[in-house]
Amino acid sequence: MTKRSVYLDHSATTPTDPRVVEAMLPYFTDYYGNASSVHQSGRKAERAIENARETISEVLNCKPKEIIFTSGGSESDNLALRGTALAIRAAEGRDQLLTTPVEHSAVGRTIQQLVDYMGFQHIVLPVDSYGAVRGEDFADALTDRTAIASVMYVNNEVGTMMPIPLLADQARERNVLFHTDAVQAAGQLNLDVQALGVDMMSLSAHKFYGPKGVGALYVRDGIDLVPSQSGGSHESGRRAGTLNTPGIVGMAKALELANQEREVRVAHYTRMRDLLIEGVLTKVPDAHLTGHPEDRLPSHASFVFDEVDGNRLLIHLDMKGVAASSASACKTGNPEPSGVLLAMGYDPTLALSSLRTTVGKDTTEEDISYAVDVIADSVEKLRMLNRALS
Ligand SMILES: *Cc1c(COP(=O)(O)O)cnc(C)c1O
Repeated sequence: MTKRSVYLDHSATTPTDPRVVEAMLPYFTDYYGNASSVHQSGRKAERAIENARETISEVLNCKPKEIIFTSGGSESDNLALRGTALAIRAAEGRDQLLTTPVEHSAVGRTIQQLVDYMGFQHIVLPVDSYGAVRGEDFADALTDRTAIASVMYVNNEVGTMMPIPLLADQARERNVLFHTDAVQAAGQLNLDVQALGVDMMSLSAHKFYGPKGVGALYVRDGIDLVPSQSGGSHESGRRAGTLNTPGIVGMAKALELANQEREVRVAHYTRMRDLLIEGVLTKVPDAHLTGHPEDRLPSHASFVFDEVDGNRLLIHLDMKGVAASSASACKTGNPEPSGVLLAMGYDPTLALSSLRTTVGKDTTEEDISYAVDVIADSVEKLRMLNRALS
């Protein structure tokens, strides 16, 4: 096995596409004006931002003014939840927030803060063994006090897709705002907010070959939202701060490319992912796929292994040039078992053995077969070591 460098962590972040970098460059050096300024340089920046807003709104099938630019997926989740929770409670008194136990921490911890410091109530939906919410459970949990429901489009740890149109429909019937974190879905799944039926949707550019530190929040026209970052009247008073012109231009370019190339990319992701899953399940004894076998993100393969420590496995893979992650990038180094896997019913020991491998548009068959061999070899070594020590 000659050592290769294989990046299988595209759910943590993607490289910035060179075509995106090229589109961004002039907005650092030539058209650097503040988009709020009246002079020509500022107006040039403003025009670029409004073009970007239009490009993104076409992919989302919404109005340009329904897009708020943010610093990324985390901020979009914060703004969606805190912003509307405070506004709805002030207007109508409803104070229940409904989510799943498998949300990204940007949703989970924002809700926890609303509960701990601002007196909201949290209703947590059960998930099945694949990490999906069932329509019946969702409908049963909605009450006249529910203000917002937030259910992610695709789970970042196990790749399972949620039945968003069904859930959003049920929320609308009960007059409950529906937010979805679509950060993992963007670039692979349908982002048409009318077809999905969602009221709010979070995106992050660096998960679809755009730059880091820029994101967007779709907010349906007419929804009232208290800014979580107050200050100037940028973004119609909903998000203060000088707009990140190069980042926004880059995000729009990345989303446009992802949309144009979607069929080819998704077919490639699916083929690479299936090779990876098949390889791991046949070459590694006592390996188990986590998440749904079919209703999963095209780029996503995640596993647990009997008798293996997930963080040690990652270090072994890294020494052989394979970049992957355990449950999620944010949890690396943390010896707590994945809350997502626990909510799905895994026992704590098995939940500590997780591996997430996510393919990208430049992943090759050779990369996959090398990675599978490295995973098989590392798992075997770790198990031998375990047995020798016990
Ligand atoms: C990466 C990720 C985020 C956070 O996005 P940032 O732009 O890194 O803040 C939020 N939700 C999900 C599901 C993610 O995968």
